[in-house]
Amino acid sequence: MKRSICFFSAALVLSVSAGAQQTSDPAAPPAQPAVATPSSTPPDTTTPGVSSTPAAVEQPATKPPASIDQVVDRVINREQALINFLKGSTPLVETYLQNLKGDSKYETVPAQDHYFLGRLDVSSVVERRDYLQMQESLWGGLSRPFRFRYEPLGFSWMIFADRTNFDRNHYDFQYLRREFLGNVRCLVFQVTPKPHAGKALFEGRIWVEDENYNIVRLNGTYAPDPRGAFYFHMDSWRLNVAPGYWLPAYIFSEEGDLGPGMKKGNLSFRAQTRLWGYDLAKNRREEEFTEVKVDAAKDESAAAQDASPLAAERQWEKLAEDNVLDRLQAAGLLAPPGDVDKVLQTVVNNILITNNIEFPWTVRARVMLTTPLETFSVYNTIVISRGLIDTLPDEASLAAILAHELAHIVLGQNRGEKFAFSDRMLFSDESVYQNFGFRHTQEEEAAADAKAVELLNKSPYGPKLASAGLYLRQLQVRAPALPALLTAHIGNSFSNEKGQIVRLNALLNSSPQIDDNKLDQITALPLGGRIRVNPWTDRVEMLKTGQVAIVYVHDKMPFGLAPFFPRLTRYEGTTAPALNGASAQNAGASQPQN
Ligand SMILES: [Zn+2]
Repeated sequence: MKRSICFFSAALVLSVSAGAQQTSDPAAPPAQPAVATPSSTPPDTTTPGVSSTPAAVEQPATKPPASIDQVVDRVINREQALINFLKGSTPLVETYLQNLKGDSKYETVPAQDHYFLGRLDVSSVVERRDYLQMQESLWGGLSRPFRFRYEPLGFSWMIFADRTNFDRNHYDFQYLRREFLGNVRCLVFQVTPKPHAGKALFEGRIWVEDENYNIVRLNGTYAPDPRGAFYFHMDSWRLNVAPGYWLPAYIFSEEGDLGPGMKKGNLSFRAQTRLWGYDLAKNRREEEFTEVKVDAAKDESAAAQDASPLAAERQWEKLAEDNVLDRLQAAGLLAPPGDVDKVLQTVVNNILITNNIEFPWTVRARVMLTTPLETFSVYNTIVISRGLIDTLPDEASLAAILAHELAHIVLGQNRGEKFAFSDRMLFSDESVYQNFGFRHTQEEEAAADAKAVELLNKSPYGPKLASAGLYLRQLQVRAPALPALLTAHIGNSFSNEKGQIVRLNALLNSSPQIDDNKLDQITALPLGGRIRVNPWTDRVEMLKTGQVAIVYVHDKMPFGLAPFFPRLTRYEGTTAPALNGASAQNAGASQPQN
């Protein structure tokens, strides 16, 4: 009867990769045969000022642009169309930053980290509302004379080249070359502010896809700097997750001299900014619809008998569980149910089956979309953060992390009945962290750890737990520098207030020692290497990264931040996007059939 499916091993092959970096190096493809006109595909005719009707881009178009100047006009029009399109949207924006210091083996290692999570409002100016309190006064920098204040907003600035002045009066556009990003052919332009055109103007390169002339990547900074502040260098990527629109999804920022000769006090950091939740309003409507259907189905099946007190208790708990999960999803913190959940559930089932544990319910697993390393469970659903999945080196280490939450379920330690009352869900998205907390006492944590080790030892993962121990050991090495990564916002943190790793200590203590020089000893992966989030739907999928040989110790980048190189592809669906209820109807009315 033992059924051990190692589904995950296929998806979670130890990818000795450079984090978010994918195999497709944009510089790598050889020069493509030159084409006389930028594209034979009809471009759109959207003009600035036109309402954000998404259908506009699908309309049969006029002649392709005949000159570079006409291409630039299209680019400017498309950027304006994107700004209009996003007016009704308040995507989530997350920035995770590591200050770096020189290191003899790894070149640089984190010295300190910061985390920001909020909602971006781009309706009139670029603004954000934050989920975490106190974050505006976070200061970075390494020594007193040079203290830097990071403005969370600064990291999301580069979702547009220029929110207000992106035109020929303010900028010069110089065509550089053609280049493929993923399988999207692009034109590359150098964009330079005109003399005396103003302050804080974009200066850098833009990549423009050659069908509709949308900007798909921006790389540069803003100049000149305002007094007493400066702008970071950023590399900003957009994804074609809705027809006709390329939505800002990833921004990598880096500053400083990262070599070993780095002067003390110099600002040196890397940061990853991610955006998602563009279509949260629509997700919410779909949920309401599903809820109605589920209720109707329930009525039919339950008609035969009344609920016993225990059955009623179970239903009550399930209600609380569903309420919490729905609320987290509506707030943009939880991915909708999907394939990654199945992968996680397979690992959980492998543990349950080999331990001969059978519940009268299904243990579910879901993915939290945020970076900090975190797990928690709500009754019988285990939640694990994207950042945590990203950094785990293999299936056995994932199993160990999940086993801790599974142990809480086995021991019956998960509570939260009060959330069965739907009015308890009535709080703003930004205050989710203040209203939800699924934390256990120290005693419960210790009991769950002990139970987890017991469950793991009887499972197929028993002989492979060295990697889980090594992961925790590596986390212990980095922990003093990574308090933000280690701060759980809903569940228990992996570390205590002294920065010591407390989760699954038995595995840490029985693991082999870390040998930095051993290139095949991969303790933990960089962030961003496993899970890809669709910024429009919030759905997650496993990344298909190719294997890149580790050549240097610093290639390992445990818990590190690498630049983004998403593999760009064109949207393949046909459904036109719409933001919010009102615009959805407008869009639908004018949508052409094609
Ligand atoms: Zn726990």
